[in-house]
Amino acid sequence: MRSVVKTVAAVGVVALTLSACGGSAQSGTSTTESTPQAVAGDAPATAGMVGDASDPVNEIVAAAIDDLQSYWAEQFPAVYGSDYSPVSGGFYAVVPSSGDLPPCASSADDIAGNAFYCPSADVVAWDSEGLLPDLRQRFGDFVIPVVMAHEWGHAIQARANFEGMTVTSEIQADCFAGAWAAHAVSDATAFDPSQAELDSALAGFLYLRDEPGSSAESDSAHGSGFDRVSSFQTGFDGGPMDCKPYVDGSPPVLQLPFTSQSDADRGGDAPLEQIIDGVPKDLEDYWSVLFPELTGRPWEPLKPVVAFDPSDAPECGGQSASGYVLFYCVPDDYVGFDAVDAMPRFYEQGGDFAVAALIATQYGLAGMAHAGIDADTQDTSLQGDCFAGSWAASVLLQNRPTSGYTLSPGDLDEAIASLLLFRGDGDESRQGSGFLRVEAFRHGVMDGAQACI
Ligand SMILES: [Zn+2]
Repeated sequence: MRSVVKTVAAVGVVALTLSACGGSAQSGTSTTESTPQAVAGDAPATAGMVGDASDPVNEIVAAAIDDLQSYWAEQFPAVYGSDYSPVSGGFYAVVPSSGDLPPCASSADDIAGNAFYCPSADVVAWDSEGLLPDLRQRFGDFVIPVVMAHEWGHAIQARANFEGMTVTSEIQADCFAGAWAAHAVSDATAFDPSQAELDSALAGFLYLRDEPGSSAESDSAHGSGFDRVSSFQTGFDGGPMDCKPYVDGSPPVLQLPFTSQSDADRGGDAPLEQIIDGVPKDLEDYWSVLFPELTGRPWEPLKPVVAFDPSDAPECGGQSASGYVLFYCVPDDYVGFDAVDAMPRFYEQGGDFAVAALIATQYGLAGMAHAGIDADTQDTSLQGDCFAGSWAASVLLQNRPTSGYTLSPGDLDEAIASLLLFRGDGDESRQGSGFLRVEAFRHGVMDGAQACI
């Protein structure tokens, strides 16, 4: 996020995407030939695994492969109108340091830190030494089948003769991964992820995003975290039929290049003090425009923000707010947050827009309270997240002459990460799962404040 001197609004919502797999080994995706013949039910999936099948990560992969083959045997005919030919070129659990290379890889660099589907050989390969154990440790078991489901998305594209930019193929693969994940949750055939595990796997997607500021037109583009999570949720909610229509530019990919060298040098992060001082003012400005549009009534500004030291927490309604790190106080009409421990930590770990988005969620609650809506249910908490998204879109579009901010590359990813990760015990019942919070925020970004009501 950065302050701007206002010029003509030049920030359109341009299509952008995210990344999950990558590397030269996959670059043949759009030139794939030979759709394999339909021989449904053939080729036992994991029989073809090359590598250490007893490795714990590879055991998870094997279960994922079996489940993906049967999932697509069922779904492919329904979505594409022809039989599914199982992936049959082999499954390669690669130890890059061993020097043994799978088909389509010409050096260890092609596979280290990577997983890929190679259409010319109908092969799936993964780094079982570095990438997958690392992801599993950070994000839990369920991130492993999600990565494989993404690679299967590329196998589906080869069978469906998909054509398009790299970034489009990547976000469509994310969409297919989301569709499979919904099946995993509802059918529980091979995996039965809890809500927390699903949230954690989503966080893994953010970890696998492209570097902020990189181009969506690059041959290795996978999209921003926001794009990737959006497509994953599209598939999760709508199934593979909602992934099928993907073409270049639809869904749009949010491409945010760095527009100033100083912003790029700071990694897109404004100083914390500037966020704490400036964002509440910008939110007041936003609500002073939005509230009359929504209710026909003027906006009454909140009491000033209380940025407090947790050893000296303020009172809310005559009671100490000790133990809370971020809240909207309904009776006294102010937003309070711990500016000594929590916010500096969120800033450090999540970036400037993590802090900004969290503050914005509380202004969303305030907006509803001002409209006379009970701001203490899970539904209204999710609406607050949606309004945080609509505010972020307003900053992105620079559609208020009185606002002095713009978004930097990576800001929307920071917002999503903050909704998934920066929460305390008991927050899930009060605020909804991370998955639902991200979905609410995205609706606000893409569809505006009307979508939040
Ligand atoms: Zn991919």
